[in-house]
Amino acid sequence: MRRPISLFNTLTRRVEPVVPVLPGRISLYTCGPTVYNYAHIGNLRTFLFQDLLKRTFRAAGHGVQHCMNITDVEDKIIRDSQAGQPSDASNEARHGAMRALTDRFTALFLEDLESLRVQPADFLPRATAYIPQMIRMVQDLEAKGLAYVRDGSVYYRIAGLPQYGCLARLDREGMLGGASVDADEYDRDSATDFVLWKAAKPGEPWWDSPWGPGRPGWHIECSAMGLELLGDRVDIHSGGVDLIFPHHENEIAQSEGCLGHRWVNHWVHGEFLMVEGQKMAKSLGNFFTLRDLAAKGVDPVAFRYAIQSNHYRKVLNFSFEGLRAAENSLKRIRAFRKRMEGGGEAGGGPWKESIPPTVRLEQAREAFWAAMADDLNTPEALAAIFTLISGLNAQDDHVALTREERDAVLAFLDETDGMFAAWPHEAAGLDAEVESLIEARRAAKAAKHWAEADRVRDQLKALGIVLEDRKDGTVGWRKG
Ligand code: AMP
Ligand code: ZN
Repeated sequence: MRRPISLFNTLTRRVEPVVPVLPGRISLYTCGPTVYNYAHIGNLRTFLFQDLLKRTFRAAGHGVQHCMNITDVEDKIIRDSQAGQPSDASNEARHGAMRALTDRFTALFLEDLESLRVQPADFLPRATAYIPQMIRMVQDLEAKGLAYVRDGSVYYRIAGLPQYGCLARLDREGMLGGASVDADEYDRDSATDFVLWKAAKPGEPWWDSPWGPGRPGWHIECSAMGLELLGDRVDIHSGGVDLIFPHHENEIAQSEGCLGHRWVNHWVHGEFLMVEGQKMAKSLGNFFTLRDLAAKGVDPVAFRYAIQSNHYRKVLNFSFEGLRAAENSLKRIRAFRKRMEGGGEAGGGPWKESIPPTVRLEQAREAFWAAMADDLNTPEALAAIFTLISGLNAQDDHVALTREERDAVLAFLDETDGMFAAWPHEAAGLDAEVESLIEARRAAKAAKHWAEADRVRDQLKALGIVLEDRKDGTVGWRKG
């Protein structure tokens, strides 16, 4: 069975069902990282929401073919990689320096995704491997009268495309056709002709082209890789909201200018992660990396949960309290999982349950999927899980659920973990083991068996667990 999923489409500003061009196979393009530095956790919010999107389609029975590019040539990469190069460095040496920088940060980025349990993309193209495709596209746009050459650079003529501005809803009157901009990033007040191919400046790595030595603009990279790897009709294209303009507007202009028809059906954008009311950004210097969080003892999976428990289209303010709350919610789900894995001990009873456990379970599954299918409403989907947990824990306290009922609940937890990737079998095991060791240490201390208490403490240490004595006398823990 394939469940239909609806998503907010930036193009129409409506929540609409995703109907793939080829039934059962959704093509998904997500703009990848610019690899000149560590990804910050704002970037990672976007990659996490896209992972949830992809996993949700898969769990709903759709095939997904996912392409995420690596932007390994662009203004900032060139600036940082060429800083230490002598002024007479060869083009080869300049390419080598650029490659060394981007290789290093690509590897670190992929490590981050792995620790966040992000499923790898089916295609992970680096822009520099697609230069011939980019050149061919620019030539095509030139042949169609949509591009012009000036001083060895090539620019897109936005006045030539009637739909220019459709995604960002630009006022065509206010556009500055004829004026041109060389930078990759600019704001919507200066919707001008933008650069497709940049003539090489002294000190920059370059490729040969019909217009002389130069390099691609940022926007043409995604158009060329997307067309090459996913074809000329793409179901979903995604990025953070800052990519709506100019990046995605320009991608549409380039691709539809070449194709002469609609390229992408659904444009899906995730909101920002903020710090104290400001966008988290490398340029503002107000960012954390995943490594910064790990140094503070934050489990990447708790970060994953903290992000995913908020709706992707709502601005989210980053806080350490939010992370602690996420850790506690996860412990609750994992402890419940552990309880369902166990045989169960009947409690006091008698108990008149008005809703049988299997009915409760079906209600939770319905509510979960209704929420996910409605634009990935994760807060409501998780609420359905917590309602189930409270209901079944209460029942299990009185009359134990049968093995069959427990297995049905575990199947639902597996199904939902397929998307949230935060309460797999082993994690529940670890949580339960730690909780029971903490209890053993408390009991040993209460009985003044100090050697035993120390032994249990060492055992916890060996598991990488850091204990936190709380003001209320209880003991909290985290993975150190
Ligand atoms: P970049 O590596 O700068 O190309 O960005 C990678 C992705 O992160 C893009 O989809 C951006 O839209 C997204 N992004 C950048 N800053 C933030 C932020 N503060 N919160 C959420 N997403 C962001
Ligand atoms: Zn892109």
